[in-house]
Amino acid sequence: MKVAVVGGGVVGLSATVALLRRGADVRCYESGEPMGERSAGDTRIFRLAHAYPDMVALAERSRALFAEWSERAGTALVDEVGTVVSGAEAEKWADAMAAAGAAHDVTDPGSPLLRLPARAFAGPALVDPAGGVIRVDRIREFLTGAVGNHLRRARVDAVEETPAGVRVTAGSASETFDAAVICAGAGTSALAAGVGIETPSTLEHHLRVSFPIRAEAPAPLQCWITQPAGDVLGTYQHAAAPGRWAVGGQVDPALVSWAGGRQPAEQASLEAVTAFVAEHLPFVEPRPVGRLYCAHNPDLGDGLQFVRRGRVLVTYGENLMKFAPLLGETLAQAGIDGSTPDDAGPLA
Ligand SMILES: Cc1cc2nc3c(=O)[nH]c(=O)nc-3n(C[C@H](O)[C@H](O)[C@H](O)COP(=O)(O)OP(=O)(O)OC[C@H]3O[C@@H](n4cnc5c(N)ncnc54)[C@H](O)[C@@H]3O)c2cc1C
Repeated sequence: MKVAVVGGGVVGLSATVALLRRGADVRCYESGEPMGERSAGDTRIFRLAHAYPDMVALAERSRALFAEWSERAGTALVDEVGTVVSGAEAEKWADAMAAAGAAHDVTDPGSPLLRLPARAFAGPALVDPAGGVIRVDRIREFLTGAVGNHLRRARVDAVEETPAGVRVTAGSASETFDAAVICAGAGTSALAAGVGIETPSTLEHHLRVSFPIRAEAPAPLQCWITQPAGDVLGTYQHAAAPGRWAVGGQVDPALVSWAGGRQPAEQASLEAVTAFVAEHLPFVEPRPVGRLYCAHNPDLGDGLQFVRRGRVLVTYGENLMKFAPLLGETLAQAGIDGSTPDDAGPLA
C-alpha cells in the first residue's frame, strides 16, 4: 500500500516509522527541517496526569511505546524524574488518575515528595511519578534515522481525492497514493480544507524561555505544571539543557495574538515569564539564556482529534509530543485499514 504522510514533525515521522513497520510504501513530505517547527528544541514534559481518565490511559499506552522506542534507539527517551501538577485543578486530575488506576500522590507545598525550584506555591500538588523529561533531541535522531530516505523535502501545495487515489502536489511534481495522512501542525488547516475538512485554525505566538538553575536547587528537579492562581501565571516548567530550567507561561492572550506580530509577542512573553521566575522560583536565576518559539493553537488542549474524508485522514491537537509514539501507531493502522480513530479528551 502506498501512503503519503504530510508533515515531518514528531507526529508525521512517528506515523511514517509505524507505516514502514507494517510494510507500507511511504513518502513523508516535509517543507523544512524534520521536527523543526512545533517539535523543535531539546525537551518536553511527559505526564500520565491529565484531567480525564481516558487521557491518562492513553498516556500510559504512550509511555509503554516510548519504552519500546528507547530500546530500539539504545538510549532512554524519557528521563523519569516525575511530574508535579499544582493548583486548584490538582485534585480533579488526581481523581482522573485514580479512575485510570495510575500511581500518584496528592500532597502540599513543603512535602518531601517534591523536588521543585520553589518551596512555596499555591497547592495542592499532584505527584505523577511516571512523568518526566522527554528527550526530544534523542527522538529526532532516532526517528530521522528510522525514516531514512522515505523523507521527501518538499512543500505540499495540495492534497486531493481523485478517482485514481489521493493526489499530492508539491511544486511541479504530483504523485498519487492509496491513502494520505495529514499531520502538518500549523499547516494542517490549509491542507485539510482542500479535501473539505475544517479544523481549528486560530494561531497565537508562544515562547518558552530557559534560565540557569542555581546550585542550591534540589536534584533531580521534577517537571512542574502550575495552574493559574489569581494574577499568578499558569506555567509549565522542566529541566532542559544541563543546568537550564525551561518555563512557558499562559500569557495574557491580548499580548500574544497572531495579529499583534511575533516580535512584540515574544517580548511580552519574555517579560512575563522572567517576572514570574524572579518572584516565584528562588532556585532559578531570572536571567534568560535560551528561547524556543512556536505558533500555538489556543483553541486546542490535551485532546487528540481525527477526521477522515475518503482516503485522507487528518489529525490535530496540542501537547502532542507525549503521545507521539501512540499517535504514530494509531495513524499508521487507520491509514492502512481506512478506519477513523476515536477522538480522545476535550477539544480545548
Ligand atoms: C515551546 C513548546 C513547548 C511544548 N511543551 C510540550 C510538553 O511539555 N509536552 C508535550 O507533550 N507537548 C508539548 N508541546 C507540543 C508538542 O511539541 C507539539 O504538539 C508536537 O511537537 C507537534 O508535532 P506535530 O508533528 O503535530 O507538528 P510539527 O512539529 O509542527 O510538524 C508539522 C510539520 O509539518 C510541516 N509542514 C507544514 N505544512 C507543510 C506543507 N504544506 N508541506 C510539507 N510540510 C509541511 C512543518 O514544516 C512541520 O515540520 C510543546 C510545544 C512547544 C512549541
